[in-house]
Amino acid sequence: MSTQQQITIDGNQYDFESGETIFQVAVRNGIKIPTLCYLKGTTPTGACRMCLVEVEGARSLVASCATPAAPGMAVKSASERVLKFRRMNLQLLLSSGHHYCITCEADGDCRLQSLAYEYKIDNIDFREASQKHPVEVNTLITRDFSRCIKCGCCVQACNEVQVNQAISFGYRGVDSKIVATGDRAYADSDCVFCGECVRVCPVGALTETQSRFKGKVRDLQKVKTTCAYCGVGCQLHLHMKDGKVVKVTGSDIDAPNYGSLCVKGRFAHDFIHDQQRLTTPLIRDNGSFREASWDEALGLVASRLSSIKKESGPDSIGVLASARITNEDNYVIQKFSRAVIGTNNIDHCARL
Ligand code: SF4
Ligand code: SF4
Ligand code: SF4
Repeated sequence: MSTQQQITIDGNQYDFESGETIFQVAVRNGIKIPTLCYLKGTTPTGACRMCLVEVEGARSLVASCATPAAPGMAVKSASERVLKFRRMNLQLLLSSGHHYCITCEADGDCRLQSLAYEYKIDNIDFREASQKHPVEVNTLITRDFSRCIKCGCCVQACNEVQVNQAISFGYRGVDSKIVATGDRAYADSDCVFCGECVRVCPVGALTETQSRFKGKVRDLQKVKTTCAYCGVGCQLHLHMKDGKVVKVTGSDIDAPNYGSLCVKGRFAHDFIHDQQRLTTPLIRDNGSFREASWDEALGLVASRLSSIKKESGPDSIGVLASARITNEDNYVIQKFSRAVIGTNNIDHCARL
C-alpha cells in the first residue's frame, strides 16, 4: 500500500507516493524539468542527462527521472549549477551530430531543437561531427544516425511498449548506435514496422519515409479521425498539406491506442491519393468495364438484387460487410441485409 510522504522542490513541499521519482513528483506539480529520454510507462534510463537536478547533501547532480523521491529530500530543479550543466550537455549533443535543421524532417517538432533555443545555445561547433553511419532508407522508415542522440527511447518503445524486441544498443563508446537484430537493416531484421520507435524519437533520427520533403510540421494541418482499418478504433491525426494526407500519427491522449498504431494505421495511407484508385463506379458491359454515374450503378444493383430476390428468394443473396468501413456503416449494411433484402446471410470480411 502506498504512503504519503513529502519532498521539497525549489523551496515548496509536495506529497509523493512510495516509488515515485523526483521527476514524476515535479511534473505532477507543474514543475518543468527537461528530458529527452523519458518515456512514460517504461523503465527510466537516465540516458540523456537533461533532467539532472541538485539534491541537498548529494555530491553530484542526479538524474531526476531515475532517482526515487525520499522523505525530507530537498531538490533544486533549476539552480545555476543545474542550468550550466544542461547547457553544456545540449552543446555536446548538438556538436556530436549533424544537426542542420534546415532540411531535417523534425524541424519545428524536435525536442533537442526546442531545448537548444530555450537554453540559448548559440555557439555550436559542428566541425567535429562526422557521418559515422550511412542513412538507412526503407519504404517506411528513414534512420539517420547522424541525428541520433542515443536517448534510447526507441529501444524502450520497441522492447517495453510494443514488446517486439527488435532493436537494442550496439557497439561501445563513440561507436555505439542503435542496432536491429545484429546490426542489420530494419527490413532484414525482426522489425515488424509498427513505427513506435519513430513515434517516440525526440529528434529527426527516425522519420517516416513517405512524408520526407512533403511538408514541415508548421505547414501541415492536423485532422483528428478514427482509423478505418479495423474495429479497434484507434484515434489518429491525419497531417494534411494542400488537401492531401502526407503523414499519419496516433493521438497521444486518446484511448484506445494512446499514440501507438499498427503498421497499416501508421504507414498505409498512400492509397488515398493513388492515381489508380477508383473514383467512379464501373459497370461491366460485354466483358469490359465502362464508367457510370452513381445513379446508374446503384439503380442497376437495386434492380438486379430485386429480380434475384423475386426469382429465387431472399436467402439466395448473401452480403459481406467490411473491416475497412465504420461500425455505423457495418450496422447499416446488416440492417439493409435483414430488413430490406430479408436474409440473415450477412457476414464480415474478418471471417473470410
Ligand atoms: S534532429 Fe532536431 S536539432 Fe537535429 S537537425 Fe533535426 S531538427 Fe535540428
Ligand atoms: S518499427 Fe516497431 S518493431 Fe521495428 S524497430 Fe521500431 S518499434 Fe521495433
Ligand atoms: S533513434 Fe531517436 S529514439 Fe532512438 S536513440 Fe536515437 S534519438 Fe533516441
